[in-house]
Amino acid sequence: MNQRPDTPPPSSLSLPPPPDTILVVDDDVATRLLTSRWLSRAGMKVVEAEDGQQALDIVRAQPELISVIVLDVMMPVMDGYEVLARLSSDPETAGIPVVLLTAHANDEEDVIRGIQHGAYDHLAKPYRGPVLVARVKALVEKRRREFNVYSRLRHAERQATTDPLTGLSNRRDFERALTRESAFAERHREPLSLLLIDIDHFKSVNDLFGHAEGDRVLQLVSECIQSTLRRSDHAYRLGGEEFAVLLRGTDSSAALAAGQRIQAALKAQPVIFTTGDERTITFSGGVAAADLDTEFVTRELVERADQALYAAKRSGRDRILHEERPLVSVGE
Ligand code: GH3
Ligand code: MG
Ligand code: MG
Repeated sequence: MNQRPDTPPPSSLSLPPPPDTILVVDDDVATRLLTSRWLSRAGMKVVEAEDGQQALDIVRAQPELISVIVLDVMMPVMDGYEVLARLSSDPETAGIPVVLLTAHANDEEDVIRGIQHGAYDHLAKPYRGPVLVARVKALVEKRRREFNVYSRLRHAERQATTDPLTGLSNRRDFERALTRESAFAERHREPLSLLLIDIDHFKSVNDLFGHAEGDRVLQLVSECIQSTLRRSDHAYRLGGEEFAVLLRGTDSSAALAAGQRIQAALKAQPVIFTTGDERTITFSGGVAAADLDTEFVTRELVERADQALYAAKRSGRDRILHEERPLVSVGE
């Protein structure tokens, strides 16, 4: 199936690998190389940065790769404390453990200052290599455990909001998104449209060709929906053969056009069943919008779209109707 280039890839439900790279930050070449060598000899993957800005650039580019940061305190332009402060102010990077390399680790004030800035551990220069390795290893383990807990949570969250058959978000996610998007639309007076889709005579597909073939039709419809939507639109399988699309910043006529693109995509792909029978799948749709015409009323958006959908079914199916408007789009 053709995907528009700006369509995001289907969300993967597999767990990401844990971070595995140690970032060594030191403006002094000799210390940096020595530190890197100790760590890589102990089997760790190491990248180096020669100043604070470079370190931040590396971490921000791929925070999920960085396991531990070994950070020199005394550096020109941006010292280690400043780097620490910036890392801990960003939720993406705040959880990465940092070992501060300081010339004054025994100076209580420096240690306290480091801890206040978010350091996990301190080491005085000149440090003993095996001690550095042991400390970094302990933090790698800590980071791995935390990462696993976090990614399991994310994974469970994604599973709980994803429909396994089609990979679309499910009703639970739809309800949350509806609340969120409604609030956004009303606050910013930006249009929000809802398109409800219900496959026509779907029961007869199951009855004639079997449940597995019915599932294949559901997947095809979901692909047609996803491949025609813009990045700011989001599709959901509400259950059975019912789908919803929330279109942010979109008024009702543009939402109708989006529905028509889905219709066209589906008509271009008749289904050939295992029996050899060929069928063009159609659906009925209902559009409701909060926009200039409706004075940004987002309340009861679902009921309003549902009424339009019901009217589309009653007036013959294979069409998308807008609330309170005459027949707008009729398939042949
Ligand atoms: P209408 O044109 O009025 O919408 O008729 P319809 O047959 O599409 O609608 P109806 O609500 O009567 O039937 C929906 C059918 O969808 C009944 C149910 O068995 C089937 N169904 C629900 N979920 C699934 C599923 O996950 N897979 C399959 N294959 N069928 C499903
Ligand atoms: Mg139906
Ligand atoms: Mg139905």
